Amino acid sequence: MVYKDDNIFAKILDNRLSAKILLENEHAIAFNDIAPQAPIHILVIPKGKYIKYDDFIYKASKEEIFNFFTLINQLIKHYDLEETGYRLITNAGKNGNQEVPHLHFHLLAGQNLGKM
Ligand code: 5GP
Repeated sequence: MVYKDDNIFAKILDNRLSAKILLENEHAIAFNDIAPQAPIHILVIPKGKYIKYDDFIYKASKEEIFNFFTLINQLIKHYDLEETGYRLITNAGKNGNQEVPHLHFHLLAGQNLGKM
């Protein structure tokens, strides 16, 4: 599968679409989901062109991977979620019902999220 530059998150990354960036580092950004499923529903995406998780892990540099997960950790700390907990999800491909073909992790929190 070839990465498509016209996906929504590619447009956010190059400012064709606006999103309020909550936190950012050299290799990743975090912003609120447009249709939140919980009081806190943040999307974390790499700046590089990766379609989904396996693609990212195979192709990204160690630095990109480290910075991506470090940003997630910083959000967990920033929103004080270590004690109360959270859910971290990435949907991949057809059976995962991935809607946007640019890797993203959903960070959900702020209430009891129920069982999966
Ligand atoms: P997926 O189903 O691919 O795992 O999740 C895609 C997510 O992107 C959905 O939760 C959806 O609400 C969110 N989303 C779709 N379009 C936009 C947008 O234009 N801006 C933001 N911030 N989120 C979006």
